[in-house]
Amino acid sequence: TSLFSEGFLSKLHKPGENPQIKPELKEKHLAWTKGRVFTRFPPEPNGYLHIGHAKAITIDFGYAKYHNGCCYLRFDDTNPTAEEGVYFDSILEMVRWLGFEPWKITYTSDNFQKLFDFAVELTKRGKAFVCHCDQETMAAAKGSGKGNPQPCPHRDRPVEENVREFQAMKDGKYPEKGACLRMKIDLSSGNPYMWDPVCYRVKDAPHHRTGTTWKIYPAYDFAHPLCDSLENITHSLCTLEFIDARASYEWLCDALEVYKPRQYETARLQLQGTFLSKRKIRTLVEKGYVHGWDDPRLFTLIALRRRGIPPAAMLRFVEELGVSLSNSEIKLVRFEHAIRQTLELSAARLFLVLEPVKLTITNVADEYSLELEKLIHPKVPDLGKVKCTFTKSVYIEKDDFRVDPPADFNRLAPGKSVILIGSPFPITCTDFKTDAEGKVTEIICALEDGTGPSGDRKFKGKDASAIHWVSAQPGRHVEVDEVRYFEPLFKSDDPSKVDNFETDINPDSLKVFKGALLEPAFYPVAKKLIKDAKAEAVKRTKAAASFAQDGVDANTSAGVAQGAP
Ligand code: ATP
Ligand code: MG
Ligand code: MG
Repeated sequence: TSLFSEGFLSKLHKPGENPQIKPELKEKHLAWTKGRVFTRFPPEPNGYLHIGHAKAITIDFGYAKYHNGCCYLRFDDTNPTAEEGVYFDSILEMVRWLGFEPWKITYTSDNFQKLFDFAVELTKRGKAFVCHCDQETMAAAKGSGKGNPQPCPHRDRPVEENVREFQAMKDGKYPEKGACLRMKIDLSSGNPYMWDPVCYRVKDAPHHRTGTTWKIYPAYDFAHPLCDSLENITHSLCTLEFIDARASYEWLCDALEVYKPRQYETARLQLQGTFLSKRKIRTLVEKGYVHGWDDPRLFTLIALRRRGIPPAAMLRFVEELGVSLSNSEIKLVRFEHAIRQTLELSAARLFLVLEPVKLTITNVADEYSLELEKLIHPKVPDLGKVKCTFTKSVYIEKDDFRVDPPADFNRLAPGKSVILIGSPFPITCTDFKTDAEGKVTEIICALEDGTGPSGDRKFKGKDASAIHWVSAQPGRHVEVDEVRYFEPLFKSDDPSKVDNFETDINPDSLKVFKGALLEPAFYPVAKKLIKDAKAEAVKRTKAAASFAQDGVDANTSAGVAQGAP
């Protein structure tokens, strides 16, 4: 909660004290809000959310919750051709996964009629005009974007003609791009957002919710401020790229003499090693560079959930980042650190041998077996213990043994010793076998119980490092068909700066291992942890719902592995 009690977000205006409210609108607004904070999270339902949205969700919902206010989830559904039902569902699911419950779910499309009426009113006030320029002409009129835009030839047509033409747009008399409605703001301004931005476009496409009712759809610069106004948003929190748009936002509310919310901008999350743009992520999915929107190499929220990252780690990450008023790329280690801190004391430590090599201990009998108990987590006895069996033959990780080790290699090598985690004595490598290609097929060791080759030498912890293993005896390990191991998807740290990001893709980001071995306790323990986490998630969702308007505890500690494979 330091996110809201310190720094920029602690200094925003109190909801009843919005300095912008005109006295004549103030009473009605306050009667409605009762002095509470109202915020909104306004995603476009045109793709799955990514980690950048987690930051926006935490700020939008968290700010309202911290002040006992309300946050809307508003689907900004003004582009019928890009929207799909699954995105709506997934967005709500992810908001809830992060532990927030919308005060209300709204849709920009709910307001299509009101927005149309506003546009007619704006036109009648002489503050909007219908333009027939094509895109090139419009772009050319803006010139370099640095000043002196050319007025559109339709800018000064009479009000009645504009009202008639706008109605004609609505009635479907114009093809797409044949006409648009533009605000008539200020061509002498230094801010290009004031150069008569578009309010309505013709689009002949059925809408997810309004069907074929509309042939025209409002633009963001028109719909967003007015929906904020209609919903009595007190703090319209958004990202820095909207700073210049604030002028037209405010102009529009004033032009229509409606309640004018206060917009505040904070930095957008940019994360090292990836880009956060739905459009580019879509390209990765559609071109098959990854296997779907929840591929663990992506930073979509469904991918992060699938990786087993608990929502508490996401909230911790955002909180530790804080809000900043300038964009900068965040190092991936900061995200990983937040995950580690969150999982440190709750994640089970269980053995998976990815590329098994057989290891045989010579100085014990063939039928030798020792029942061991080890803690699921060495520092958290409450997580319980699992049983495993130490036998004459075990499997260890291929990489834990080197024939010719470099000087700093402290795992197993000829003449060196290690401890098989959980077992009472170290083992020392006395020999190894290879196949025709020189690949190690078996490692031979002796158990150091005081009778082994190094006599009664005493081992201390620092003399030998500990490695993981599973028993080689049938029934004492479980073979896994396939283990997928993911490395970064991009070669560079900043794929968004590479001209064509497709050339930056790491061709070996997915490694598949066949025949990995698990310790037998793995499945029961994993199942139990997932069950506990799901129960915790249900509890959290219920709590979020019943406290939707109450204070937030952003440090909630549920480790939710919901949806984990
Ligand atoms: P994208 O480019 O990925 O489509 P967007 O901004 O167009 O992102 P929206 O669905 O419109 O996506 O975003 C909903 C909200 O999330 C907006 O308020 C937006 O500012 C915020 N948001 C999106 N990306 C980020 C980010 N990387 N960091 C912080 N907030 C973000
Ligand atoms: Mg957007
Ligand atoms: Mg976008």
